[in-house]
Amino acid sequence: MHDALKKLSLLFERLPGIGPRQARRFVYSLVDEKPEILEEFAGAFLEMKKLARRCPECFRAFEGKEAGLPTGQAGLPTGQAGAVCVACATHADSPAILIAEKDVDLENIEKLGVYSGLFHVLGEIALPFQSETDKVRLKELHDRIKRSKTIKEVILATSATNEGDAVAAYVEKILENFTESGKIKITRLGRGLSTGSYLEFSDRSTLDNALKNRK
Ligand SMILES: [Zn+2]
Repeated sequence: MHDALKKLSLLFERLPGIGPRQARRFVYSLVDEKPEILEEFAGAFLEMKKLARRCPECFRAFEGKEAGLPTGQAGLPTGQAGAVCVACATHADSPAILIAEKDVDLENIEKLGVYSGLFHVLGEIALPFQSETDKVRLKELHDRIKRSKTIKEVILATSATNEGDAVAAYVEKILENFTESGKIKITRLGRGLSTGSYLEFSDRSTLDNALKNRK
């Protein structure tokens, strides 16, 4: 591969789930695109970066303009840097917080309308949970529960996979002092979610059952 092709290919490989072969398929396909389309790609990347950010509390990705409430939980106007997202502001006194691994999982749960309350997104977390992102998000989860006067239940909505199990076990360990003191109980999505299934592929009734049968 020549330098320009190679460079682009390596950039695609930074994305989750994209290996060298898939990355090269993207690159060779883009070779055939019109310059206008490629300019649109470049512009869309930069626009996304300008408008989207992560909530400082739940870490969901959202666009500033999506925030419609006058003030956020942190007392900052929503839509401004440092302000919390609408869900965090709306459900500030929720008795439950649902832990999702990925943004797409959260999106799926919200879209299916099976849960309404606080969320926390761990991100593309991987063993042994030592990346800066992992540490920051896990610490904030601990601190949110410590600060909260209303959270009584932590719902682990991790996938029914080996990785999902490992993440769930790690979160349980981090929150051990709260479960031992009786401040919170930790539940996990029930059997509706068959072993090996990823949350993002769940349909409404499966996810609804998994939530109802949490224990
Ligand atoms: Zn939030």
